[in-house]
Amino acid sequence: MTYLVVVAHPDDEVLGAGATMYKLAQKGHSVNVCILSGEVNARNHRPSTDELHEDVNSSMNILGVDKIIKGDFPNIEFNTVPHLKLVQFIEKAIIDTESDVVFTHHPADLNNDHLHTSLACQAAVRLFQRRPDVKPLRELLFMEVPSATEWALNKAENQFSPNTFVEVGEKSVDKKIEALAQYRGVMRDYPHPRSHEALKGLAAYRGGQAGMVYAEAFESVFRRGL
Ligand SMILES: [Zn+2]
Repeated sequence: MTYLVVVAHPDDEVLGAGATMYKLAQKGHSVNVCILSGEVNARNHRPSTDELHEDVNSSMNILGVDKIIKGDFPNIEFNTVPHLKLVQFIEKAIIDTESDVVFTHHPADLNNDHLHTSLACQAAVRLFQRRPDVKPLRELLFMEVPSATEWALNKAENQFSPNTFVEVGEKSVDKKIEALAQYRGVMRDYPHPRSHEALKGLAAYRGGQAGMVYAEAFESVFRRGL
């Protein structure tokens, strides 16, 4: 199986699905990442662009990611980008990776780039129904990204409501945290959601919801097949 994680910013992929990505790669699946804003610009706590590329590469190495597809859409300004441009970029990533399953942001996330990524991805995954030459998608899942998903305030949007739990075990959670720590300036002290304690606690809580030893939770919104 081939998986594609489509995110707005570097580190979102680890926060949302890092332990699952590690587990899938260990099982021999192809795991790929599409980061729409692959450059530093608006993030003031960020290192230089070269350092960020290094951080992305070493993080994705730990998780066993095959392909990293980076866009240069402007950070925290996705609302200024034509919707079609985002859709076409994601469509190309889906075609290039021949993905079966796509993970992306929940549209209610507090971060506005996450909303635009989610909307564009929802349009892009329908590509196979417009183009018979494109491999049909099996599933689209929304992720929860700590410090964006649970910070959502907009009550006009449905909030993240997990219905799919992936048991990852303690080792995969530790790998997720190790991969996240490759990104300079991302990890914070507890009680921040991007702390070692909060990330491990979330995995323990999601596992407990489904009778599993540590889990990541997702919301499956489209599924074809059995
Ligand atoms: Zn983000």
